[in-house]
Amino acid sequence: MKRIGVLTSGGDASGMNAAVRAVVRTAAAAGCAVVGIRNGFKGLLEEDFCQLPPRSVADILQRGGTILGTARCPEFRQPDGPERAVEIARRHTLEGMVVIGGDGSLKGATAMAKAGLPVVGIPATVDNDIPCSEYTLGFDTAVNVVIEAIDRIRDTATSHERTFVVEVMGRESGAIAMESGLAAGAEAVLVPEHPYDLADVAERIRSGFQKGKKHGIVVVAEGAGSGIEIGRSIQAASGLETRVTVLGHVQRGGSPTARDRLLAAELGARAVTILLAGEATDGQVVVVQRGQIANVPLATALTGQCEIPAALLDLVEVLAR
Ligand code: ATP
Repeated sequence: MKRIGVLTSGGDASGMNAAVRAVVRTAAAAGCAVVGIRNGFKGLLEEDFCQLPPRSVADILQRGGTILGTARCPEFRQPDGPERAVEIARRHTLEGMVVIGGDGSLKGATAMAKAGLPVVGIPATVDNDIPCSEYTLGFDTAVNVVIEAIDRIRDTATSHERTFVVEVMGRESGAIAMESGLAAGAEAVLVPEHPYDLADVAERIRSGFQKGKKHGIVVVAEGAGSGIEIGRSIQAASGLETRVTVLGHVQRGGSPTARDRLLAAELGARAVTILLAGEATDGQVVVVQRGQIANVPLATALTGQCEIPAALLDLVEVLAR
């Protein structure tokens, strides 16, 4: 291949830029030019392209967000969307495509591969909700931002001997809540993957204060319920003043952590290597499995469920004693 495209799609995630850099420079090392597509599938349908020579991706490794821009594109989901996109790519002599994004973006990548364009997906979403990969770019950065926020909230909670509910992102995934709650020493973590009993959580917090604890921190994944309503219920059931913080979009941006940068480098390089080797004609996605970089067919990549081990929730309870 002499010319491939790269786009970022769905919600931005730290590490997307580092992945674009890895794609561009790995391709350049193999004599392949890279064309950047602005604003995901929307830019592809609008033919909003830019040349990405190796120097054009200087100084982006450490930046959050995506220099290519990203967008949601309902038009691409129309029955003829993927075919039109592939026809446009061919007209611009693009022989393959790297799609960096979350599960929706990888479904779009699958549709383009079905329409006949070699495509490799790179999982990138703060939600860490791609079943075939243990890890998605942006997750580690988001978890670290949440941990820092909880540490700060804990200072205030301890000073005032208060209960705080912290609502974190993740859509239908409890991954951010689980890892940040465990790492920041929360008293309880509520995730959509497991049922919970608010009366039990309230009792746990109340008895924690009775045993001499100075704070009660409950981390709630957005998919497990509204932090504000959960805070109200805990206050009503425990009789303790309960404050709520919804962290929102501070969790998405910011300079990527070492883990996100390293994986972006490896996943980006692997994506180009398999594309140029002709191994992605049916569509592939680069993944982390058992800690190793691998690639699997896009067609089966999104089946199955991401699980949160119940043992981790139990560990939160044990360690909060
Ligand atoms: P995040 O996990 O951060 O939300 P995402 O990639 O899942 O990222 P989506 O908005 O779900 O974000 O998807 C991004 C784009 O991918 C959509 O705007 C649409 O253009 C395309 N897309 C989503 N689902 C499909 C699908 N089933 N078939 C084809 N294209 C799709």
